[in-house]
Amino acid sequence: MKLLTATNSTQGFRDNDFDWCVEGELVHIGVVCARDTGDPDGGCGCGRSFAGLNSHRATTTAMVRDVPGFTGADYVLALRSSLEQQGCDPSHAEHEAALLRCLVRDWPVGAIVERRLDEIVVRQVVR
Ligand SMILES: [Zn+2]
Repeated sequence: MKLLTATNSTQGFRDNDFDWCVEGELVHIGVVCARDTGDPDGGCGCGRSFAGLNSHRATTTAMVRDVPGFTGADYVLALRSSLEQQGCDPSHAEHEAALLRCLVRDWPVGAIVERRLDEIVVRQVVR
């Protein structure tokens, strides 16, 4: 299935890009803190970044990758354990998995996306 993963591809396209994630790890869309509310180019960076499920770090660039053998149940499990590790409520995992699957559904594999607060837009498609 198609999944949203961390990538350093297209880093530097924006002056304030950063990538502290592990290449290829699953990412989700984290909550934006008070500092970046209303400004995707804010001082914190969370308004323009995705959060790595394993590293618990952030990246401004994510890529749609097809991971064969990965199931919807795996996705929920991955999100749940990441939320638990970070002391967050794991009951959101199923909802988040559904949202992320819906998000990438119409994008091709290789699409590189960026975040502008609540909007996730395609930056480039790598073939
Ligand atoms: Zn923040």
